[in-house]
Amino acid sequence: MESILAGLIKFRTQDYEEHKNLFCRLKNRQEPHTLFIACSDSRVVPELITKSLPGELFVVRNIANIIPKYHQVPEDLMVSATTAAIEYAVQVLKVKSIIVCGHSNCGGCASIYLPDTVLDNIPNVKKWLELAENVKTRVLDELDSKDDQMKREWLTEQMNIVEQIKHLLTYPFIVEKFNKKELDIVGMYYTIETGEVFIYNAVKGLFELVN
Ligand SMILES: [Zn+2]
Repeated sequence: MESILAGLIKFRTQDYEEHKNLFCRLKNRQEPHTLFIACSDSRVVPELITKSLPGELFVVRNIANIIPKYHQVPEDLMVSATTAAIEYAVQVLKVKSIIVCGHSNCGGCASIYLPDTVLDNIPNVKKWLELAENVKTRVLDELDSKDDQMKREWLTEQMNIVEQIKHLLTYPFIVEKFNKKELDIVGMYYTIETGEVFIYNAVKGLFELVN
């Protein structure tokens, strides 16, 4: 906690002062251009990797950057927290882009392979990860016996991004704007140890390094 308190003071006296005009401009309204959906992982920092300032990104984070398929009446509150944030960003804030950002060494993605004996101790996480069950099925279909765990992780993390974009396209108001080219949807994969970011090329069906 001490480091947090020291950080608050440093922010107020240095960073805030440096961007004082920006914070004053943001006082009454926000107009973020992008809805950024990322994993809750502490090593993924959306504003840092995109060099964005306050007011630019509307950020939604959860374990494994999962997007529940669209439900007009959410089945439970856990699902509605993410769907409500998406709805608000697109319908009220009218963002121009949605980024779904996954990352390397994702504990959430790895957890979908944990046995029930482990997941039963974290029942809420277990329930949440059920939303990515189809990712697990697709990855296991694609892997062959000589593939190692590293390949499985990498494939799961990247396939999960593609799958969550498909889930986004179950939202009627997103499909409408996407078809009218009023909304961009981008899949992004961030590698923690190299700082590299890969963007999904839907035509080629693969992630390409951003240079
Ligand atoms: Zn993660």
